Amino acid sequence: MRRFTAGLLALGMALGLCGCGAADPDTSRESIQVLAMDTVMLFTIYGERSVHAAYAAEDEVRRLESLLSRTDGDSAVSALNAGGGAEDSGELAALLEAAKDYSQAADGAFDITLAPVSTAWGFTTGNYRVPSREELDALLERTGMDRVHTGGESVRLDGGTEIDLGGIAKGYAADRIAALLREDGVPRATISLGGNVLAWGDRPGGTPWQVGVQDPAHPDDPGALACLLGLTDAFAVTSGGYQRYFEEGGRTYHHILDPATGAPAESGLLSVTVVADCPREADGTPGPGTMCDALSTALFVMGEERALDFWRSGAYDFELAMVTDDGRVVVTEGLRDALVETGDGYDCAIVS
Ligand code: AMP
Ligand code: MG
Repeated sequence: MRRFTAGLLALGMALGLCGCGAADPDTSRESIQVLAMDTVMLFTIYGERSVHAAYAAEDEVRRLESLLSRTDGDSAVSALNAGGGAEDSGELAALLEAAKDYSQAADGAFDITLAPVSTAWGFTTGNYRVPSREELDALLERTGMDRVHTGGESVRLDGGTEIDLGGIAKGYAADRIAALLREDGVPRATISLGGNVLAWGDRPGGTPWQVGVQDPAHPDDPGALACLLGLTDAFAVTSGGYQRYFEEGGRTYHHILDPATGAPAESGLLSVTVVADCPREADGTPGPGTMCDALSTALFVMGEERALDFWRSGAYDFELAMVTDDGRVVVTEGLRDALVETGDGYDCAIVS
């Protein structure tokens, strides 16, 4: 059941997004639900080409799933994990290059080579268990982004290394869908891929889309929000320990792992939402959607202070909303105008 939680929440959020605007009389609208990449997705697309764009987006996420899934034995990533190398994989190489860049920028907090560690915890199979320190140490010997080699069209992994693109694939899918929306001249749309949301254009009537930041304390209630963000032409990607976890011996273990320990990150954060502009000229290469996804995972691992230092460094153009385990919502200055407090018990503090 747990594996679908994030998707269902996002679906609820997307319904919230789309249900409250008056229909634009000048355009048609198509809403479709897609189950792909282990996620319930919802695409709501406006304009004359809405039907074409919706099904093109569906085809694209299915294509990406068959390329990037770790659990589909026929995917390119599975072939890579089984054999260590892949040729004619320019698209995969470009995504892995991006993953390497974000990993390096985040001082190793983002690491797609944690695949065997994630498997040991049971997050890939659903056979949850708590591995011993010795087991984790042995598995960590096989991890590290320096074990991933890319060059043009080819990708190679060092022996024993496997990759898991769960922390970045949906962000890349959002970048790809943005390019399809551009090609179809779509004026406005909301694309919800689990915790990854693309708010394309604005709502009918010209106001921003309202993107909810889920209250991590009530993950099963899509109406429970830590805050809302009013966004236009933007990606908003949330990573949260509440999105997938299991309980054992009275403790909770979630799916975002600290590459330094191989254990679920204990950074004092319950969720991180990363927001960045989505350019209308999106070209379908790994872009801001991919960035938001990689950084939301990395900054969750890094924790509040390191995340804010990273934001302040200006290395990448993004904004942040973080929910802490002591009940605060920390929002960066660039979201001041977008922030809508919901009065659900969270104090939102703007930081600069
Ligand atoms: P997200 O929901 O984008 O934060 O991605 C979480 C998923 O990314 C997990 O389910 C794993 O598949 C993978 N993952 C876990 N920890 C990390 C990490 N530190 N760096 C990169 N990917 C990770
Ligand atoms: Mg991510």
